[in-house]
Amino acid sequence: MLEELKKLVSLQNVDSEIFKLEEELDTLPDKNDALEEQIVEKENKIKELKNAIDIQVDEKEKRDEIYKKGEEKLKTITGKQSAIRNKEEYNALLREIDNIKRFNRDLSDEIAEINKEIEAKTEELNITEEQFSREIEGFKKQIEINSKRMDELDKTIDKLYDEREKLSKNIRPAVYNKYQRIIETSPNGKAIAMAEHRVCLGCNMTLPPELYNMVLRAVRIEVCPNCQCILIPGDNHSDNKKSSEKEEN
Ligand SMILES: [Zn+2]
Repeated sequence: MLEELKKLVSLQNVDSEIFKLEEELDTLPDKNDALEEQIVEKENKIKELKNAIDIQVDEKEKRDEIYKKGEEKLKTITGKQSAIRNKEEYNALLREIDNIKRFNRDLSDEIAEINKEIEAKTEELNITEEQFSREIEGFKKQIEINSKRMDELDKTIDKLYDEREKLSKNIRPAVYNKYQRIIETSPNGKAIAMAEHRVCLGCNMTLPPELYNMVLRAVRIEVCPNCQCILIPGDNHSDNKKSSEKEEN
């Protein structure tokens, strides 16, 4: 194969690796953002549950206070019994005692009801907190893994760019520029395609026979008329097999 083509294949291998790693690198910040969001969501849910319990506790305390006042009033009224002068006053007193007692009975039912709710909500909170804290821990670990991976990728990509620079310096500028123009507009980071059985494997277009023959001879740089990729002989082409075995994979 033309020496320049071999160099381009090496360059393409590095570029494909860069393309792959940069794609992975691109996805990681979004992944971490999504994980952070999930953490906030779960923390908010816990806050909501705690607030709901606080509200119930407040309600209960208010009722406790009223209940206590009622009991105190009962004591005071009961103490007044000796001052009663007639039956009417006595009946009025009995009614008032009765009212307070009934009121406090209802109140104590309500308090019991609220207590039950507080208990149920506290249990829910405990279960949720336990489950969420485990999940949040997992999310945080994943964020850490992703962050480490981003650092790793940054370093590896830097190295690959160094390697690419070295390789590109050895390629004739006209050839390199041609390659560069193609790869810069390529949607998949490919500037080189194999041609096999008269087909460009980059875009699956059938190549004109004379072009295909030129590609197989590999003495000049030929491009696919459809996808613009630089064409090299396919793997099953004996000449190519010898020279690019190392470079593939
Ligand atoms: Zn093509």
